[in-house]
Amino acid sequence: MLTVNAYAATSATEPLAPTTIERRDLDPHDVLIDIKFSGICHSDIHTARSEWGPTTYPIVVGHEIAGVVREVGSAVTKFAVGDRVGVGCMVDSCRECDNCRKGLEQYCRNGNVQTYGGVGRDGKPTQGGYAQAIVVTEDFVLRIPDGIELDAATPLLCAGITTYSPLRHWKAGPGTRVAVVGMGGLGHMAVKLAHAMGAEVTVLSQSLKKQEDGLRLGADQYHATSDAETFTKLAGSFDLIINTVSAKIDLDAYLRLLAVDGTLVNVGAPEDPLSVHAFSLIPARRSFAGSMIGGIAETQEMLDFCAEHGLGAEIEVIPAEKINEAYERVLASDVRYRFVIDASTF
Ligand code: NAP
Ligand code: ZN
Ligand code: ZN
Repeated sequence: MLTVNAYAATSATEPLAPTTIERRDLDPHDVLIDIKFSGICHSDIHTARSEWGPTTYPIVVGHEIAGVVREVGSAVTKFAVGDRVGVGCMVDSCRECDNCRKGLEQYCRNGNVQTYGGVGRDGKPTQGGYAQAIVVTEDFVLRIPDGIELDAATPLLCAGITTYSPLRHWKAGPGTRVAVVGMGGLGHMAVKLAHAMGAEVTVLSQSLKKQEDGLRLGADQYHATSDAETFTKLAGSFDLIINTVSAKIDLDAYLRLLAVDGTLVNVGAPEDPLSVHAFSLIPARRSFAGSMIGGIAETQEMLDFCAEHGLGAEIEVIPAEKINEAYERVLASDVRYRFVIDASTF
């Protein structure tokens, strides 16, 4: 077993603090990864603070992981020592159910094994990426293409795939009008990806503070949702809306922005239930949907797409001691646009 430095949450209210954790011995299909960077996803905060139900403490969160292979098990064929690799939100699944067989491991009928807060192959709780190293079975390790710097690639492992998957599924591309609600970690990647796919992109943010950035990242239009005019001006004008907001919003107001047959996909996962009025959907045959990360093959496809289009995340690299401060800034929508922890500081 390997002992590594990590940062853990010990209760819903205490700040995260340094600790050590054990990583399992390599089985024949395992890869030991020296973590170089670890992203801060809003889901880490929801989990560390028990916002989605009770969390089992202590927990090491973090599911945007980029690093370099240190060691491989005897039967590993996909990776070699020194490879640049990533790990996202899942570290395993049953691989046998119909969804797993279709490459939809995130929707595994037996429950995918989450990178943190799940139960690993050794029967122990999984611990995530705010650590110096991790052991993951090779089928759930991604290859980071040479064209993307490791730090900027890190947020692609969750924020990237979570927005890429619905954009692909609902066919964003030339001729489609896509709106992105909330320009944080997920939102800024949605803007870059939808633009690279050829869609017409609009950002719907609480204010115009980040407008210049939004336009630079690929948005064609940028509107403040604090301005009531936005909702009258843009009524019926989008084919696809990706809602990345981490808090409860007035979905009916956003659904009315969809054209006939338009879809609002919720990827934001607030702790409070959302409500939808039937008459926000019925008069224009609109759909309200959800989407969770993406499968392993699709995640690799997304990484390759990003390399091909020169895309990475906009990041602010921080030392581990600034994690708690970074959490407060994420909660205040003061992130531009993803905090990435330098793993050498754990
Ligand atoms: P984030 O960086 O905090 O971004 C969320 C953005 O939403 C903020 O930057 C802000 O953008 C906007 N926002 C925040 N509070 C708001 C409020 N009260 N009203 C209106 N807008 C508000 O978070 P993230 O890491 O992108 O994650 C976003 C959500 O997605 C979280 O709930 C997370 O758990 C969830 N998530 C889901 C999946 C999935 O598989 N479905 C995967 C990853 C994350 P503006 O300043 O532009 O308004
Ligand atoms: Zn995430
Ligand atoms: Zn399965």
